[in-house]
Amino acid sequence: MDLKQYVTIVQDWPKPGIVFKDITTLMDNGAAYKYATDQIVEYARDKNIDLVVGPEARGFIIGCPVAYSLEVGFAPVRKEGKLPRETIKVEYGLEYGKDVLTIHKDAIKPGQRVLITDDLLATGGTIEATIKLVEQLGGIVAGIAFLIELTDLDGKDKLDGYDVLTLMSF
Ligand code: AMP
Repeated sequence: MDLKQYVTIVQDWPKPGIVFKDITTLMDNGAAYKYATDQIVEYARDKNIDLVVGPEARGFIIGCPVAYSLEVGFAPVRKEGKLPRETIKVEYGLEYGKDVLTIHKDAIKPGQRVLITDDLLATGGTIEATIKLVEQLGGIVAGIAFLIELTDLDGKDKLDGYDVLTLMSF
């Protein structure tokens, strides 16, 4: 299946110069959403995954059906102030300023094999912060899966040495 036909390209959103890849039209289509999910499940199948971890909010959309299919749990990575119990946090740089991602301290047990999911790899800042959270808790990043990679932004450079799957490149 050619998944790209289900992604809607939105020019100049959320601000001028950004070409936004809207995956809601892929999610809208049951067959396309299932196909994308199944591709990631197949990629992860032989990796002995114990847990799927994804950053809010689109990392949940990709990761939760994969976790369900692999019959493992899902742990959310969220912006600061959203998780109710004790968390650890990582700061990461944005184009202007910085942001913080957090995860519950007990979400991962040392040695657990983790699959990280997100919708899209741009600069790689979000996924790099997510990797740090997983590794600080003693998790092993056994795989990282995205629907989309924006190749111009060289986000993959931040993922050297990790096992990465991307289903589409733009
Ligand atoms: P980054 O940290 O730069 O790799 O950005 C990744 C996050 O920002 C992803 O979780 C995407 O949801 C979102 N994002 C960045 N650029 C785009 C884009 N051009 N279209 C859609 N989402 C984007």
